[in-house]
Formats: sequence, C-alpha cells, structure tokens
Amino acid sequence: MSSLLETAHPLDSARDVLRRTFGHADFRGLQAGVIGELMAGRSALAVLPTGGGKSLCYQIPAMLRPGLGLVVSPLIALMSDQVAGLQQAGVAAERLDSNTAPDERQSIWRRIDEGSLDLLYLSPEGLMQPSMLNRLGQLKLSIVAVDEAHCVSQWGHDFRPEYRMLGRLAEVFPHVPRLAVTATADARTRDDIRAELRLDGAAEFVDSFARPELALNAERKRGKGHERVIELVTERPGRAGVVYAGSRDSTEKLAEKLITAGVPALAYHAGLDKAVRARRLEEFLEADAAVMVATIAFGMGVDKPDVRFVIHADPPAAIEAYWQEIGRAGRDGQPAEGITLYGSADLAWAIRRIDTREAPEEVKAVQIRKVRQFYAMLEGVTCRAAAVRRYFGEEGVARCGVCDVCLSPPQGIDASQAAQKALSAAHRLGGRFGRGRLVDHLLGKTKDVSATESALSTWGIGKELSPAVWRDLIDQLLFEGLLKEDPNDGRPLIGLGDADAVRAVYRGERRVSVRKAPEKHDAIRPARGVGKKRREIVVAMEDQALFEALRAWRREEAGRQHVPPYVIFGDATLAEIARDKPASDRALLAINGIGEEKRARYGEDIRAIVKSMG
Ligand code: ADP
Ligand code: ZN
Repeated sequence: MSSLLETAHPLDSARDVLRRTFGHADFRGLQAGVIGELMAGRSALAVLPTGGGKSLCYQIPAMLRPGLGLVVSPLIALMSDQVAGLQQAGVAAERLDSNTAPDERQSIWRRIDEGSLDLLYLSPEGLMQPSMLNRLGQLKLSIVAVDEAHCVSQWGHDFRPEYRMLGRLAEVFPHVPRLAVTATADARTRDDIRAELRLDGAAEFVDSFARPELALNAERKRGKGHERVIELVTERPGRAGVVYAGSRDSTEKLAEKLITAGVPALAYHAGLDKAVRARRLEEFLEADAAVMVATIAFGMGVDKPDVRFVIHADPPAAIEAYWQEIGRAGRDGQPAEGITLYGSADLAWAIRRIDTREAPEEVKAVQIRKVRQFYAMLEGVTCRAAAVRRYFGEEGVARCGVCDVCLSPPQGIDASQAAQKALSAAHRLGGRFGRGRLVDHLLGKTKDVSATESALSTWGIGKELSPAVWRDLIDQLLFEGLLKEDPNDGRPLIGLGDADAVRAVYRGERRVSVRKAPEKHDAIRPARGVGKKRREIVVAMEDQALFEALRAWRREEAGRQHVPPYVIFGDATLAEIARDKPASDRALLAINGIGEEKRARYGEDIRAIVKSMG
C-alpha cells in the first residue's frame, strides 16, 4: 500500500509541474516513463523523435529533485533557446559558456551556491574542466542530462570527440542519475551511447520514429541543380524553409539567386563572421517566411518550430544525418516537407570523403555502408518514411501515404540489355574516360574519334536511346555498384564495379531496371494537408483577424525582449486563444502552452487583445 503511494507520487508532482509551469495537460509518448526513471533516481537512455518533447524529460526531474540539474548540450544556440524558453516559463535556468560575461558568471555561481538554481546548461568541455568538476562535486546534483547523446558515437555523422570525456561522469558523480537523450540513434549507436556513457543497466526508451506531418520526397539531380532548387523554393512562397548545400560557395550563390527571384533568403556557413552568423540566425528565427541557405554548420539546436520545408540541394551522407536535417521541418506538428536532390556524383564524392579521412578502416567501412544504404533508400521503390523507420529498427511499419513513392509509385522499365551494352562499353574503354565520353561512344558520336576506339565492337551500339536515357542508366549502374567512378580530381572516370555483379548482368542472371522518370517534375507538389494525424493548427475564418493580431503582438513582445517569438508562445497556442477567446484566468490556464508564469506575464495583454477584437 505504502509502496504504491510512494511510486504514484513522483509522477503526480511531475504532472503538476507539466501543467502549472509548462501549461500542458498531460505527458506525451514516453515522457512519463523517462521522467519516472529519473524521479526514482535511476539513469536512462531515451530516443524520442524531433518535437517529441525530449527536453521536458530532464527539465521536470531537475526542477523536482533536490539539487542542481546539469544539462550538457553541444551547441550554444541550443542552450540559449532552451534557457530563454525556461526563463519565460518562470524556471530558474542559466547557462555557462565561453560567452558568459564575468559578472554574469559570478551571479550565476551565487545562485548555485544558494541553491536557488534548478538547471544549468553547459558544453561538454566546459563541464569536464577539472575546476568545474571540483566545484560541482561539492554540490548536491539532481540529475545530469546529456542532450544529443548520439554525438558520442564515432560511427555516426555527428561524432564530437569532446563528448567522449562524458564517460567520466559515471565515476565523478556516481550517485546522480544520468539521462542520455537523442532523436537519432540506430541500435548500434544506442549500444555505443550505453558503452561510452557507462549506462549499463539503464532503462531504454525508444519511441516510434514516425513523423506523420512530414512528406519525404527525393529526386535525381538533372542538369544544373540550382535551377531546380530555385523552382522548388519559389513554388513555396511565404513559408519558412532551410536549404542545405554542400559548400560555402554554393550557399552564397544559391542565396543570391533566390533573392533575385524575390525570396527572402539568407546564406549561413562556418566561414562567415560570427556576428554576421548570429544576425542571420536571429533574422531567420524571427521571420515568418525566411529561407536559410546553409551548410550543415547550421542546424543542430535550431528549434524554429514552423519550418515548412527542408531541401537538400546536395544530399547528406547517411540516413541519420538525413533524418536529423529533414526533421527540422514541421516541429510544430504541422504539415511540412523534406526534399532531397541527389546524383551519382554525390555518392562518389561522399565515399571518397570518407576514404580520405583519418579513421580506422573498420569505421570507414561502416560509414561507407551507411552512405550506400542511404542512396539505396533514395533510389528505392519503397515508401521513404517506412524505409527510414525500418533502418532505425522499427518493426511493423506501414506506408506513410504521403511521400513521392507512395503518391506516384515509380514505374520500373527493364533495361537489362541496355545495361549490358553500357557495361561492355565501359569495359572496352578501360576506365579511361568520363560519363560524357561513354555516352558519346555508345551513340557513335565521339568527336575526333580515334581509329582504335571506332574499331571497338561497342562503338555506336546504343543509337536507339537518347543521351538523357543513357545518362540516367549510367547513374543507375553507379548506384547499384555495377559501375564505379574514380574521382580523378574532379574529372571522374568510369570503370566497371563489382565483378561478380557485372558478370551476373552479362549472363542475364541479374536484371537491371530503371525508374521511369516523371513526365515533368510534377511528383513533388507543395504539401497541403500532409498526414493529418497530428495536432493541426486550424484557425476558423472568423478568428483569423484575432490570430493575426496575436501574432503581431507576439512579434513586438519578442522584439522587446530580444528572444525568438516562439519562446513566448507557439502558433498552436495562439490559435487556441483565437478559438477559445479566454476571458478569465482559468480559461487562460486551460490553453495548451500557458502555465502560471506565462499567464501572469501575458494574461492581461492577451485578454485585452481578445476583448478589443471581440
Ligand atoms: P524535442 O524532442 O525536439 O527536443 P521539445 O522538447 O523542444 O522537443 O518539445 C517540442 C514541443 O512540444 C515544444 O513546443 C513543447 O512545449 C511541446 N511539448 C512537449 N511536451 C509536451 C506535452 N506533454 N504536451 C504538449 N506539448 C508538449
Ligand atoms: Zn510513403
């Protein structure tokens, strides 16, 4: 009896904080389970999808358990957003990093020593400094949370050597429960997190990776990739988006072209001056419809909830990175899109980059396999969301119904005979030429052809197909590993790939089929009501004016406080206000996203706006 009471109690108080402080009616998904572990003083590992509410899993126990809660996070941007959001909700949270001014530092330490701070955000290297560990070792700690815990895995795309140091936390704070959280980790990465962070025996919580609000699309690059990107962006006017490009230079060129096309675009990469970067980030976060054109330097920790599309002008190199980058769209649960443009040259480049890295051979081999798995998904004919979720180890996954593969299943054309021709031609040419020359050879159109080449049996055997079809087929053969591209310093040469596979094609034992290309690029349509399973923001016609007035008020308020608008209220909260027109404190508190602190801060303003528009 008494044990029942004891176990029931901590979650009740956690729910109470969830309601009073954060204004949410109940826990979502696996939150209650994770929080229960920490409240009981046990460590845990949690893999929850983006937008799944990971941060509350450690914030609430840190607030409820006695002592200071530490949160380790890889990026300053991530910390500052979370701390701003917590402060808005009236939570005693601060961060210490290299940017913290000395007097601010002092006052934070004063609050820590008094015991009046609930949460402290730190970088891994900041936390692991001997002097810091010393100082923290004398305090009572409630929990230690490691955010973006996949950064500890060297198999992954986000490996951060400084995360490795966090393994020592187990011995430095042996009695403090630890929580590792991330949005992306396959089984192997989870094992790695456990091993590195010494979480043996800790309970594991892995939520579904389903993101029903996200429509995934992918398309082979055709011609100059940039034109297609401009087209995709301009077809989606008035929406916030992120375009990822592979190089600093192309982010700037693309942003310029988008601006010329009338899109409010901003370039972002690690080569820009720090102040410029900060300004552009702020501009993007606060704008309703800006497009950030960025390298992967931009992203982790950018929690803008209303990003409506993420476009890969150049593809990432693994499903983990893909999922994380695409996952930045639609965090608010509203319909959003991820669109990836890719080509065989990108595949070759990704492999080469891994090959030339300084890393153990077995690590490289795993990474190269991950690249191939990713391209197999892009080229594949199965639902994209389902493919990703299976990759992460989910079982019994259903088709999403909204990706390009689900909406217009690609038709396969048997191209085995043409493939035999292309493979023999590549063989005869001895891997000395690039793809253009191979196509010319097949068509019998090589300029200034030598007598030796025109005497080859493969010269001009492919006149029945157009150059474009040959190029597609060669891509396909590259994706399948039947052909191989040698980068040759930017002038790639094409040769035969896996010998056994090639032989099987010659013998007719292995068929090659190509995707029938869509007539025009019409497979990818701007999403409207993608998978309506989530909490959709619907504002009735008659409430639109009030909703807009609330947004305008929020923008002003955010500007005054120098915080992003969404840390004040999300769109979903404003939509609920516009619908319910709360006229009392009780009515305000009934709205999702309004806790006591925000009611006290903004209740009067909101009621005045509601009244004036009513
Ligand atoms: P992530 O897992 O991506 O870090 P966050 O912790 O930023 O997600 O939460 C995503 C959004 O979901 C936030 O706006 C948060 O306020 C909201 N949220 C979290 N938990 C709940 C809940 N139990 N009920 C309603 N909204 C919630
Ligand atoms: Zn699908």
